[in-house]
Amino acid sequence: MKNHLLVRKFQLMSEAVIREYKPLIGQSILELESFAKAMGEKPFRGRQLFDWIYRQQVDDFSAMTDLSKPLRENLVGVLIHPLKMINSDVSPSKQTRKILFELSDGYLLESVLMKEGKRITVCLSTQVGCAVDCDFCATAKMGFIKNLTAGEIVDQFLQLQKMSEQKITNVVFMGMGEPFLNYKNSIAAADLLHHAKGINMAAWRITISTAGVVPKIRQFTEEKQPYKLAVSLNGTTQDQRLKTMPITQTHTFSNLIKASKDYAYNSRNRITFEYVLMDGINDEPQDAERLLRLLGSIECKLNVIPYNEIGGEYRRPSDEKIEAFMAPLKRASFPVTVRWSKGQDIDAGCGQLATNSTSQ
Ligand code: SF4
Repeated sequence: MKNHLLVRKFQLMSEAVIREYKPLIGQSILELESFAKAMGEKPFRGRQLFDWIYRQQVDDFSAMTDLSKPLRENLVGVLIHPLKMINSDVSPSKQTRKILFELSDGYLLESVLMKEGKRITVCLSTQVGCAVDCDFCATAKMGFIKNLTAGEIVDQFLQLQKMSEQKITNVVFMGMGEPFLNYKNSIAAADLLHHAKGINMAAWRITISTAGVVPKIRQFTEEKQPYKLAVSLNGTTQDQRLKTMPITQTHTFSNLIKASKDYAYNSRNRITFEYVLMDGINDEPQDAERLLRLLGSIECKLNVIPYNEIGGEYRRPSDEKIEAFMAPLKRASFPVTVRWSKGQDIDAGCGQLATNSTSQ
């Protein structure tokens, strides 16, 4: 009788824990240890859960064979994934896949999986919508809706990995949202992707891309974050950049260049500058000349991305104009690539991610 009461008390305790707890994806080892303790288990059970979820990427408790049977039974009802996959679009070339996820509160977000030979890159969102309001960007049209949790960011990776035949080799925080306006959760997500006992993705394979939130670039530098940094530059002067990126009002062009330079110098990491090339906006050969002067003394590389049209006022320059822009950059002392952005045929190119906010 006493035993029976103890079992019932334990079940009630587990049910309360299950009700209170957030989904397991997104939790650190320490948090999973606390979760195990709250379930009346030893902390090492939390470390086992960490291993199953992140390293082995198993999302079925019944397959977690080194957990005791009573624990596996008690875990039924605990949510592992914070996201639900709603839709998946594959480009005709089969090289790009865009996935629509739903959050528990009904909001929607998108992620992209891109294949280029052996390189498999995922582009993760860090916010629903975005407050930065770049004029050329589809996400900006949604406005800012909410920050994603670390779990909602990492779950995009885990679910994309599950549907990819090959191992994901690179991660970019470059989907919907500005990662540096959700700094804490973006770094926590990168830490989970990098954790040696979990997903174990090398830090240099994880890139965080910012539209230029200067104090956060400085924080990233001071904290000596091991991840790579990319900056969306998209202009070569204060006035020119301000026309498409209002963030330049607060975080000026010169401060952005200075913070980028300091990052590259202090971290000894090459910084990536992204330059979305827009017809009649920033695509003159003299812009390329200015880039040579601006970036010449920075340990960097430059990715030129001809604009993906989203039905607004901005246009992709003609191939001739792109060639004329690229010509001076042949003299660059830093690597320059033209990234013919993938996935335009399914609206998964850079600046093209946008949802109708909610599934309702
Ligand atoms: S380009 Fe990036 S930072 Fe700018 S509005 Fe779009 S999502 Fe936000």
